[in-house]
Amino acid sequence: LLRIEGLRKDFGTLQVLKDISLSVGQSKKVALIGPSGSGKTTLLRCINHLESPTGGHIYLDGDLIGEEKRGVRYVRSSAARLARQRLDMGFVFQNFYLWPHLTVQENVALCPWKVQGKSQKEAMDLAEAMLEKVHMAHKRKEYPERLSGGQQQRVGIARALAQQPKIILFDEPTSALDPELVGEVLGVIQELAAEGRSMVLVTHEIRFARDVADEVVFMDGGLVVEKGAPADVIDNPSNERTIRFLGQLR
Ligand code: ATP
Repeated sequence: LLRIEGLRKDFGTLQVLKDISLSVGQSKKVALIGPSGSGKTTLLRCINHLESPTGGHIYLDGDLIGEEKRGVRYVRSSAARLARQRLDMGFVFQNFYLWPHLTVQENVALCPWKVQGKSQKEAMDLAEAMLEKVHMAHKRKEYPERLSGGQQQRVGIARALAQQPKIILFDEPTSALDPELVGEVLGVIQELAAEGRSMVLVTHEIRFARDVADEVVFMDGGLVVEKGAPADVIDNPSNERTIRFLGQLR
């Protein structure tokens, strides 16, 4: 479904992603783990071109993201084409980024209504259904400031679902939450995983990664150091850097 080939990202002279290649199959869940600053969030943001990659290519369902091939050259695709491609990738932000002046339901309906061309009624119905999925339909008329962080994040997930994306990208979805609120968000992600949704999840919740992911990717220094089944990478890592990282968490 998703294929990343030779991805590089520099910020000025800082090489944050050095040469990343990865694939995510249909209905697969891939967890990205690694130390702070290893490039996990940057990788996720490059996948949907919230950051423009310095090099390499990303394909979703065979479609080249953010670029078009003209003969042997790659050229940047139009903003309209990229905007369309982004709709296939739901993004769940660490800090939720809900609109404060819109209700929960309006937040979720906004993209289907204003961007995807559904009628207001269709978009509001879809939003309600997505809010039900994350157990937030009862709060649909509230404004975000009246919700806990865990509830806001569940609305953030409903908003990503309402786009009807092919894949969902989660950027450390629980790291801004108080510890007692983490479980409710992980529970929702687990339910989506069980539905067979495709997802890439940047997380510091190692135990959760082991329980939910089909593949765990350990990154360090802008490189994929080790990847494989959770039972191998987390319970039985072979690379010395992975062993050290996981050892620090125990
Ligand atoms: P964490 O787990 O702490 O979120 P991470 O693995 O997700 O870390 P990134 O957030 O991808 O790491 O950051 C990787 C490196 O890139 C860091 O050194 C960071 O300072 C740098 N970086 C990220 N975004 C930018 C930017 N917009 N401009 C300059 N440097 C950046």
